[in-house]
Amino acid sequence: MKKMICALGALLLLCGCSGKPTGPAEVQFFAMDTVMTVTVYDEDMEQAEAAARAVQTEMNRLDKLWSRTDPHSDISNINAHAGDGAAVEVSSDTGLLLTNANTAARESGGAFNPVMAPVMDAWGFTREKHAVPSQAELDALLALTEDLPEVTLNQGQTTASVSLTKEGQSLDAGAIAKGVAAYKAMGVLSGYDVDFAWFALGGNITACGAKPDGSDFRVAVKDPRNTEEHLCILSLEPYKSCSTSGGYERYFEENGRRYHHIIDPADGYPADSGLLSVTVVSEDAPWADAYSTACFVMGAEKALEFWRSNEGAARYLDLILVTEEGHVYVTEGLEEGFEFKGEEKGYTYEIVRR
Ligand code: AMP
Ligand code: MG
Repeated sequence: MKKMICALGALLLLCGCSGKPTGPAEVQFFAMDTVMTVTVYDEDMEQAEAAARAVQTEMNRLDKLWSRTDPHSDISNINAHAGDGAAVEVSSDTGLLLTNANTAARESGGAFNPVMAPVMDAWGFTREKHAVPSQAELDALLALTEDLPEVTLNQGQTTASVSLTKEGQSLDAGAIAKGVAAYKAMGVLSGYDVDFAWFALGGNITACGAKPDGSDFRVAVKDPRNTEEHLCILSLEPYKSCSTSGGYERYFEENGRRYHHIIDPADGYPADSGLLSVTVVSEDAPWADAYSTACFVMGAEKALEFWRSNEGAARYLDLILVTEEGHVYVTEGLEEGFEFKGEEKGYTYEIVRR
């Protein structure tokens, strides 16, 4: 059996594939501010390559729609009309992105917030010109994060109308866009009759189907204290997605303090919830992405309470929460095939049940 170990975004990936195919076909490219890798297995290599390229084309299309820096994107268009009373007509894909974002915002009790862009800008994360804003500046900007975008899917559902009600409001879909993109990519792949595929969109990994040899598709979660190493390995069931959020992914340091890119909408500061990283596994790729960010903001206690509620999106999630003290909470749906690698690194773990 051939074994590949690839370092990809926030996760490491272990995939053993055997059998007839000589492939896989693999494309790697940069989109949505991250490196994306699409790997497709099929006996017919031409088919596998065509499928991988089709996913790449889809990612580039969605990147153009959702970019904050492209002035012609749907997101820029909506932001440009914030507070002027006009609803902007956008692609139904943008409608899908924002309805998912609004649901995540509501169900997470505001831990997930898709209109954090002004706060992200104040911290300088958008243009990598970092600065620590004053609390007064943050308080003024937080007033712009209170109202969610208004989204209406238009007749025929090929377009959507979106408006931001307050001047100065601005969308940042960075915490969910790759999850929705993974969902769209699965749709593209279903049009090609290939054996198996997986994609890694930064820290979001999706298993598209079951491995032809029947073995588990294995994903390794990074040690957030030392991202060169694994903390644990888990089995990703067919069509499930896995997403990791961690403060170590993007940060800057000033006067000996570290400021990372996941912001607590309650105070506008980098979330200080006691967690180093959160991994979410779900059959719903957008939820995996949105809730890895949201649970990072919530902290272990609230995140587990949310998971135990087993309501709404929480029904479709399993979590791995890594605390600053080095404790790892793993929810019961991930128990089978779970391999802990953290003992020697001073971590402990427990399986959490509903
Ligand atoms: P992720 O890597 O999926 O956890 O997403 C992190 C990104 O989401 C950040 O770089 C910001 O662009 C954005 N973001 C930061 N804080 C939040 C938040 N509380 N809710 C939603 N998006 C956020
Ligand atoms: Mg996310």
